[in-house]
Amino acid sequence: MVRRRQLYEGKAKVIFEGPEPDTVVAYFKDDATAFNNQKKGTITGKGVINNSISEFLMMRLSEIGVPTHFIRRLNMREQLLRKVEIIPVEVVVRNVVAGSLAKRFGLEEGSALPRSIVEFYYKNDELNDPMILEEHITAFGWANHTELDEIMSLALRINDFMSGLFRGIGIRLVDFKVEFGRLWEDDQLRVILADEISPDSCRLWDVKTNEKLDKDRFRRDMEGVEEAYQEVARRLGILPEAAHLREAVGPHLVE
Ligand code: UDP
Repeated sequence: MVRRRQLYEGKAKVIFEGPEPDTVVAYFKDDATAFNNQKKGTITGKGVINNSISEFLMMRLSEIGVPTHFIRRLNMREQLLRKVEIIPVEVVVRNVVAGSLAKRFGLEEGSALPRSIVEFYYKNDELNDPMILEEHITAFGWANHTELDEIMSLALRINDFMSGLFRGIGIRLVDFKVEFGRLWEDDQLRVILADEISPDSCRLWDVKTNEKLDKDRFRRDMEGVEEAYQEVARRLGILPEAAHLREAVGPHLVE
């Protein structure tokens, strides 16, 4: 087993130095947190499933021309990624009222929005990820105007594509969060999609029953959290073998 040098440990993933220059390896954990770390737990098999779901979505997005950091999945819990400088902004796209939007404006969860809403949050746990405006992003130098235009247009394309993709498997894409990074390519600094896209970062509701198939089940202490994640993978046609879901081996190099 080859031990990798750890670069960073997040709430749901560990990032290791990659085997090639300008790459990193993301290891998907079963750890789950909510409410800025106040609630902590484990969702058995989540890492394996999110690794596969994120691989699937990143590949489909890449096929329609959305630049992403994804290179390839290495094994059940790891994927090889292009190393980027993460832009410290969480980009949330909403199609249906839910979560903090419902709370902030006193709206009922579940009403469709007349148009998609894009929101920005400053990625900073100590400050509880405060909501920010484009003005803050450019004034504080987190991204420039050109990058922000690119982020906005990518976020809307991702939303359109994923809304259709999930609708095809009977799931409503209520909202989701994405992150972007920058890297040098052909002497140009480019913005590309980074992090993961999974039921940890999306709200996914069954079209017919409105059943929640995402991390809200964990946040709200509902039953069937593991099963909900599995159901999303199953509908996408990528459910890893049940026997592998509990496989919790440490990071190892797969050539
Ligand atoms: N989200 C996320 N990470 C965060 C905050 C939000 O992945 O730190 C996702 C969340 O899963 C949902 C969307 O972004 O799909 C909108 O979340 P919201 O602002 O409603 O916040 P929440 O209710 O999750 O606190």
